Amino acid sequence: MLKGKRSTIPAFTKGSDGRAAPLTRQCTMDYKIEPIRQKVRELLGVKPRGRVPAGAHVEQWIGISTDEAARMKPSRDAWCEHRWPLIEMRMSRWDCISWFEKRYPGRVLAKSACIGCPYHSNAAWREMRDNDPASWADAVAFDEAIRAGFAGNRGSIYLHRSLRPLPEVDLRTAEDLGQINMFINECEGMCGV
Ligand code: SF4
Repeated sequence: MLKGKRSTIPAFTKGSDGRAAPLTRQCTMDYKIEPIRQKVRELLGVKPRGRVPAGAHVEQWIGISTDEAARMKPSRDAWCEHRWPLIEMRMSRWDCISWFEKRYPGRVLAKSACIGCPYHSNAAWREMRDNDPASWADAVAFDEAIRAGFAGNRGSIYLHRSLRPLPEVDLRTAEDLGQINMFINECEGMCGV
């Protein structure tokens, strides 16, 4: 990210209708897409603001599964071609988890999302609170720090869509609340029902 530039994450604030509304997201571009692009340019030996030489060709593999096919986008650079090997192999998120469990039994898959990502499901927050106290403390501190606004956004801002401080959010499961959970894993919102 450029020095001095401020980037927004999709944290929640109260919208004009009184409901939780996410802030415009710049973080994926600033923290993920652009740093990777800069690194690829560096590997090509291109100076900052320099032109990529004619004829240069980069194939960039992006690990999204069939559940996330909507995220497939071509590169904005003519010298870079995007490929999605998991989609080419028709692998879903569940296929990837099964593949990993078969080959690396007992090992836990590392997560790629930022600790304080407002897109975390309740299950993800709960897992962090119960099994990763250092990350949870980090997220709680960050949630408090953004409350008064950041990057030009004023007002009460929260990491959780309930518009409550993280430690006060009810993260209980359906079973904890005495309801039957029809899903083995939390619904990803992809099933269309
Ligand atoms: S994981 Fe969340 S906070 Fe991190 S870059 Fe992606 S959207 Fe932004």
